Amino acid sequence: MNELKKLTKSDNRLSALEAMHITTLNDVVMHLPYRYEVVEKIWPPDEEGRMVNEGVIVHDATVFFHGKLSRLMVKVMIEDKDYNVTIFNRHFLKPNLRPGRTVTVTGKVKGANITASNIVLKTLAEQSGMTPVYSVKEGITNKVFNQYVAKALTLIQDLDDFIPVDFAMKYQFGDKREALHLVHFPKSHKDAAKGIQRLKYEEFLRFSLTMQYIKMQRGQEVGSAKDFYQHDIDQFIKDLPFTLTADQETTVNAILNDLKQPTMMYRFLQGDVGSGKTVVGAIGLYANYLAGYQGALMAPTEVLARQHFSTLSRFFADTDVNVVLLTGSLSAKEKQAVYEEIATGEADVIVGTHALFQEKVVYNNLGFVITDEQHRFGVEQRKALKNKGENVDFLVMSATPIPRTLALSLYGDMDVSSIHTMPAGRKPIITKFYKGRSMKPFLKQLKDYLAKGGQVYVICPLIEDNEEQDLRSATQIAKAMGDYFKGHYDVALMHSHLKDEEKTQIMNDFNDNKIQILVSTTVIEVGIDVKNANMIVIYDADRFGLSQIHQLRGRIGRGSEQGYCFLLSQSPHKEAIERLSFMENHYDGFEISAYDLKMRGPGEVLGDRQSGLPTFMIGDIYRDFDILERTREDAIEMIQDYYKYEEYTEYIEAVKEKIKTGNEYID
Ligand code: ADP
Ligand code: MG
Repeated sequence: MNELKKLTKSDNRLSALEAMHITTLNDVVMHLPYRYEVVEKIWPPDEEGRMVNEGVIVHDATVFFHGKLSRLMVKVMIEDKDYNVTIFNRHFLKPNLRPGRTVTVTGKVKGANITASNIVLKTLAEQSGMTPVYSVKEGITNKVFNQYVAKALTLIQDLDDFIPVDFAMKYQFGDKREALHLVHFPKSHKDAAKGIQRLKYEEFLRFSLTMQYIKMQRGQEVGSAKDFYQHDIDQFIKDLPFTLTADQETTVNAILNDLKQPTMMYRFLQGDVGSGKTVVGAIGLYANYLAGYQGALMAPTEVLARQHFSTLSRFFADTDVNVVLLTGSLSAKEKQAVYEEIATGEADVIVGTHALFQEKVVYNNLGFVITDEQHRFGVEQRKALKNKGENVDFLVMSATPIPRTLALSLYGDMDVSSIHTMPAGRKPIITKFYKGRSMKPFLKQLKDYLAKGGQVYVICPLIEDNEEQDLRSATQIAKAMGDYFKGHYDVALMHSHLKDEEKTQIMNDFNDNKIQILVSTTVIEVGIDVKNANMIVIYDADRFGLSQIHQLRGRIGRGSEQGYCFLLSQSPHKEAIERLSFMENHYDGFEISAYDLKMRGPGEVLGDRQSGLPTFMIGDIYRDFDILERTREDAIEMIQDYYKYEEYTEYIEAVKEKIKTGNEYID
């Protein structure tokens, strides 16, 4: 039975709770206020006339109706002076506003008149303390919700408390019930902060412990070590058309070492676009091949899979490695042929999309899987992959670099490698920020560039016009540019609502220079590599996180040509201007994300979903980073002290179930 019926019988309210994603009593108490309202006296009124003060009613109130609207007027004496107070649509207050009664008025003063936004039938003293403000849906008020919390707290016998007693003592946290009381019914900000601190710690601890637990389990799974001659690898590296950077070398060594170990590799490799991650992955695939195993590389899209296929084919051109491509767009017959190559072991390296791990695909001897831009394998996904091979090692590549300390906490179940340095000779992309929303300041440059045969990306935050947001939409820009360049250049529009085949077609046409200007939302974000496109224009750039802009900018300047990035924003905010100007002389993704985190916090920065970063309900991975890091250390201690905390394994197993269903931490 629905536990919430213990709180209310009203269908309206129950469905409001449901709309708030609240289905249990525990959900009720864990639905925290997002801010608090504090009634503070403002008197004398500030320079704009805003005021909050108590006063005594002098006369009965009068009410005027204008159709459905109403206007209530009442004379109130505030600090020995009479004011005519007007408030709209609160006619129902009239019977309570009797002469002699003290009320608190919030409003704006002009001479002897006050336009009130609120009249409360209490003195200031009666309102001391803080009122929590919740995110609620229609049908429930803050006050009602707060009452539900109070009731739920009495109904719940055992609160799920995940902090071991000795850790709670170490941090002087008190118990969870008390923390929830402090957060939902605080007397001061200090109270609320104390309560929230414990809840954040608990949330992060659950996460960190899960990560460390998964890591510990992985360490216990014994597979077979992969065996190859270092000499062959050295030769392969020597034959590359360039020398590896120091970071590439370190990473290669770490990967080779992982492969040689009898335990499973689960490594996170982060580095800017173009920093040379794919080569590193290729070397790992080669070692895996030499050890007698098949390898797979999974890309998020068809276009990227093709790109990787041609890159790897080039790398392995002078070897016996047989690279095959498996994507959804192959004909049934072609697919069948590829399946056979995979099953017989004729295929050594298989590149593709998710199609790689469908049930139909049977591997001969899968030993190594790399994913590009997936950030994490869910437990379920990893299981599916393990079923494809006995001793599968995993490498996850990400071109969204984040500071190492943060990566260690967020990807606590993985080992982290970072490539910081770019290969020598890469020209930084010339980046200019212009206030406004017009291409005028660089239109000539853009036209000259097109005339020389170049291609251009134009990025907008929205697909279509939206009345609420005064932003340039991709549709509108595509139309305007199409008209402007008619007969000279071809303009195409790309966005997420198109079918996959349509997107692929457009990307192929752009790649073949059948399209010169590609107007798009951020769907082109990941991994596209069109060497002839070296100019990018980003509209309403303040709408994007800097890391995201950096990602977009990484689409260009991948060949030897100079790249240009133009940022447009009409935001009047000093902070937005500062952030965008920062891009004019910063090119290191790690540095940019560190700055971005400092300015805004990663949730917004990386755009939750896209970033693949886990999102937390209470804690903020940047602002509360010290707590997150502490929980990582504590989790490691708990895991090491496994027996002492054995009771928690059950809990962790439960959390892992959740992970499997994909709704927490890992999707
Ligand atoms: P990522 O996968 O990190 O985006 P890639 O591995 O695709 O980067 O490398 C980008 C380009 O730089 C490729 O053309 C690659 O051949 C080249 N490259 C990689 N490593 C080096 C290096 N050490 N020196 C010069 N060029 C390199
Ligand atoms: Mg790449």
